[in-house]
Amino acid sequence: MTAARGTDGVLVDRYGRVARDLRVSLTDKCNLRCTYCMPAEGLPWLAGPQLLSDDEIVRLVRVAVERLGVTEVRFTGGEPLIRPGVVGIVAAVAALTPRPRISLTTNGLGLDRLAPALRAAGLDRVNVSLDTLDAGRFARLTRRDRLADVLAGLAGAAAAGLTPVKINSVLMRGVNDDEAPALLHFALAHGYELRFIEQMPLDAQHGWDRAAMVTADEILATLRTGAGAPTEAGAPTEAGAPTEADPHTGASLPRTGFDLTPDPAERGAAPAETWLVDGGPARVGVIGSVTRPFCGDCDRTRLTADGQVRACLFATEESDLRGALRAGADDDELARRWRAAMWGKRAGHGIDDPTFLQPARPMSAIGG
Ligand code: SAM
Repeated sequence: MTAARGTDGVLVDRYGRVARDLRVSLTDKCNLRCTYCMPAEGLPWLAGPQLLSDDEIVRLVRVAVERLGVTEVRFTGGEPLIRPGVVGIVAAVAALTPRPRISLTTNGLGLDRLAPALRAAGLDRVNVSLDTLDAGRFARLTRRDRLADVLAGLAGAAAAGLTPVKINSVLMRGVNDDEAPALLHFALAHGYELRFIEQMPLDAQHGWDRAAMVTADEILATLRTGAGAPTEAGAPTEAGAPTEADPHTGASLPRTGFDLTPDPAERGAAPAETWLVDGGPARVGVIGSVTRPFCGDCDRTRLTADGQVRACLFATEESDLRGALRAGADDDELARRWRAAMWGKRAGHGIDDPTFLQPARPMSAIGG
């Protein structure tokens, strides 16, 4: 497909895709150390002056919303809740015209305390990352003993009305791939929407292995059979036991799995393919970034915490808006640079190409 070069108006690329969904990283730092994301000692963090200030972030989001047709803003990181100005940034973005939809991806730590203020500031909803319901496993996986805080964060988000509360889970072979049914039971019992994400080659350690990745097909098969052990601590506990009554005797039988049927709702540019669970209305999603890429429908543009525009998580090029902004560029110039950056967006992420190169920045530094 060909498209008119993006010199004015929206963020269009040469394949005709229009980016309306902006992911903004508020910081590259995180208060967890998930083994599949970063090393135990953390990473060389961006220095203070490299980071965009709160005002600079709001200005760039304003340019995106007012001049470039962005309608969705998602704050991420690193861990966005550890940025001191997060509530003020949300409030300033919520005051823009036209008002974008605003969401935030978080590990959930501190969300129970912050949720009411974020809601009052204008945050619409949250995605909370949670890969296991077992406290010991959580501590090993994230190198922090904080499962209870994440569960409190989820509950706090729901109580504050940051709904639908979505959960993101990454399954890893031999680590937590037995927990898919338990995670879905938990999500259903609490009214959260669960999304499984295929693990992508974006770890700081460059240890990703295609052959070891748990695929979307495997995740769906596991959910359908209900296979998988309860976790060490006997989870799912809060979700209710994964059993169902024998229709003839009433005896409690092990759960046989979920009935998943394709969700009739329009998928649009959403990365998750969704299924109705046991006839609905509850749903579960799978983001098959690697085995079921959705690049042709991608509507995302990204801004890193140091003010670089990226057209794709896997882009090897970035475009420096911070330098332009600090050199005195006006809004027109910033918009022009942003459009130029998006015009060059590649057709696909290329993970399956023999020539694929993992981007230099890990997920935490791009903004996942
Ligand atoms: N700290 C926040 C959080 O935990 O949600 C936001 C940043 S974190 C990088 C965003 C999401 O990326 C999390 O759900 C995390 O599990 C996921 N993630 C990290 N590395 C990943 C990888 N290599 N492949 C797929 N997802 C990954």
